[in-house]
Amino acid sequence: MFKKLIRYSNKIFDLFTIIASVTDKRIKAQIPTIKIIAAIIIMHFTNQGSLNSLSQEIAFKRLKADIPSVSTIARVADTMDLEEIRAVGLEIYKKARKKKMLEPCYEMWVGVVDGHEQITSPYCKCKYCKSRTVTRKDGVKDIQYYHEFTAFILAGPKISFIVDIEPILPGEGEITSAYRLMERVCKNYPKAFSVVIGDGLYLKETVFNLLERHHKYAIAVLKEERRQLFEEANRLSLLSEPEVYRRKKTYYRVWDHSIEGSWDGYGKGVRVIASEEATPIRVHSKDGKSFEDKLNRANWMWVTNLPRSEDPCSLKNTVAICHSRWQIENQCFNETVNTWNADHVYRHSANAIVAFLLLLFICVNIFNIFRIRNIKDRSIKTKIYLIKLIGRGFHTDEIPFPLVPTIPPIPI
Ligand SMILES: [Zn+2]
Repeated sequence: MFKKLIRYSNKIFDLFTIIASVTDKRIKAQIPTIKIIAAIIIMHFTNQGSLNSLSQEIAFKRLKADIPSVSTIARVADTMDLEEIRAVGLEIYKKARKKKMLEPCYEMWVGVVDGHEQITSPYCKCKYCKSRTVTRKDGVKDIQYYHEFTAFILAGPKISFIVDIEPILPGEGEITSAYRLMERVCKNYPKAFSVVIGDGLYLKETVFNLLERHHKYAIAVLKEERRQLFEEANRLSLLSEPEVYRRKKTYYRVWDHSIEGSWDGYGKGVRVIASEEATPIRVHSKDGKSFEDKLNRANWMWVTNLPRSEDPCSLKNTVAICHSRWQIENQCFNETVNTWNADHVYRHSANAIVAFLLLLFICVNIFNIFRIRNIKDRSIKTKIYLIKLIGRGFHTDEIPFPLVPTIPPIPI
């Protein structure tokens, strides 16, 4: 399976050719950067989880001559050009989109942005380290260092595509980092999406205006703190009938209000979509002998400048799009941490942490596309199992090295 994945990455995405464009700042480099990048990609694809595990595999497979040592990999990651790695990610996106491997989410191309704490460490080692004091159970106070990022993904019906990340620097909030991220993503991926969704934090006129400048619509969660919009929407809901429907197991009552003059800073009219949702579920009863039927209730409100004329067919789809915000939590943050070790610090330096993450996301994107399009074997049911098969393939197969990477001739 490992060979199959590598062949696929090369055939469809030219992966081991396009990574040749990434450089680093070593002055007299003995090992070309492409070899380092290829080693990191192999480490991520085979889910080694640490440079130590990779080093163990290198020793086991007697690949010392072909794969750089882990200390070299770590050192080079300190100065790898991040924009060039981002360009590789963009290239993968372009190829996937051209080959129709990505699909819109309920008839629209949807971007999702959110912030996340990615790693913690007891040591402060770089300029991106943020710190906080934690009190342990025995009352002793410790300083904990951590790194936070904002991430941008494209939501999709089957897979979400991780587009880019941006560090949240010490002393700044999530929104400051998100501005940089959204500016860059709008510039690099101008046609990839038409609407961007964020949580309550993104209900800011500056966010809406920034996206408007790039001809994108915005959707943000509305929470009670925004009293005026919130109360106006509630007043209107009492006066009008909702649209009622069922999607899968959930029953919806949805209101769609146009509100002007309740958001001072923005100064333009917006829509507030309110959704009351009820999902019947069956749970174990307290005595453990039988089942109980319950109703899970949830109330949501979103603010958007998406005009009704641009609505994806129906209000039903718009509500589904608003909910696709969860994909960033589930498929980007949780899954990459739980399944792909995205919270591991491979090398603690400001540059290396971002470089390893960007390369990991390139691998995860390719893996996800590979899985849904290329795995026809019905006995492979879960992602975890497929990842295991790939790791096992790397461990046991006879692999000729240098893998596929061929170093392009240096233009003189
Ligand atoms: Zn740090």
